[in-house]
Amino acid sequence: MLPGRAMNNGIAVDLRNVVKRFADVCAVDHVSMQIRDGEFFSMLGPSGCGKTTTLRMIAGFEFPTSGEIFLHGKSVGTTPPFRRNVNTVFQSYALFPHMTVAENVAFGLRMKKTPPADMSRRVTEALELVRLGDYAARRPRQLSGGQQQRVALARALVNHPEVLLLDEPLGALDLKLRKEMQLELKSLQERVGITFIYVTHDQEEALTMSDRIAVMNAGKVLQIGTPTEIYERPVCRFVADFIGETNFIEGKVESVESGGIATIVSDDGLTMRGQMIRPVPPATNVTLSIRPEKAFLSVQPPPPGTPNCHQVRVERVAYIGSDTRIDVRLGARLFDLWEQNSRSTLDRDAYWQPGETGYLWWPAENAIILTE
Ligand code: ATP
Repeated sequence: MLPGRAMNNGIAVDLRNVVKRFADVCAVDHVSMQIRDGEFFSMLGPSGCGKTTTLRMIAGFEFPTSGEIFLHGKSVGTTPPFRRNVNTVFQSYALFPHMTVAENVAFGLRMKKTPPADMSRRVTEALELVRLGDYAARRPRQLSGGQQQRVALARALVNHPEVLLLDEPLGALDLKLRKEMQLELKSLQERVGITFIYVTHDQEEALTMSDRIAVMNAGKVLQIGTPTEIYERPVCRFVADFIGETNFIEGKVESVESGGIATIVSDDGLTMRGQMIRPVPPATNVTLSIRPEKAFLSVQPPPPGTPNCHQVRVERVAYIGSDTRIDVRLGARLFDLWEQNSRSTLDRDAYWQPGETGYLWWPAENAIILTE
């Protein structure tokens, strides 16, 4: 155990029932989560859901109205930011324009009166980590946006924080650079082994980088899980809708089988099957959620007894390169499904035309039954 650390059982940051109110706004509403040592953990949600406020409380820039925050097992109460072994990287990296890259990175250490030899070694090490070893003598204006963001990262890493907080750090970069930096950040985090807590409203970014994600809305945490759990097994409609694309069908449970499979009747009278996320009795109002890539369209009727098979009319077909997006009419709604344009299905792309009839079907476990 490191000196000064309380027992933490591998938990870097522990939020227990944390509430933050600003006058009549409840920005963070009874949030509890445990972030593990060395984890890349993202808080994901729409604008105003309380991500930044949660991060600022971990950093010590704000204090909870109620609830408690522990850093490595120690309650931090009203400990100020500089007494927490936590650093923050913001979207606006605010580098000093008149200083070189090395001077920018050294700034905090200089303020702490770090001995020059130690400082120089740590600055070199931090710049190497972000692959800017050859840029130490440049000024910020001589760097690209991505390189400036890496200087901001080096400036945080040079302090050897136990936890690095990142508030939409890639938000100012263009899409291509953003994607490159996502992969780079993930590999950097794996190399340094520091706990990263990353705030974003971009679901693809969170799925790409995170070990686990907390999905937030209106100040609350709705689900915490790995990217696969969040995408494949969303616990509520908001999460299913916010992460990726999905078709929602409202209905009522008709019967329940073993293995958590249920048959529902949709509001417009269609019978279909899906996997329940939690057990619900017959007659409960539910929503079926089916991802567009988890349903299939066949030319021929599938074998008798294939569950969830509905004869449908093709309404729209859009070829988008990697796949073809097809809207079919299923009862009262349009149902969106995506077919991958792999070699084997190239001919199919030419085949489906608006106005044609096909057979839409999905295995029951490909559809999720949600109650909230
Ligand atoms: P964004 O992605 O837009 O940054 P967010 O999810 O990070 O949003 P927060 O910045 O944490 O959300 O804000 C949560 C709520 O708290 C919002 O309604 C916001 O207006 C409010 N809020 C945040 N800071 C303050 C403050 N200092 N005073 C009053 N209200 C605040």
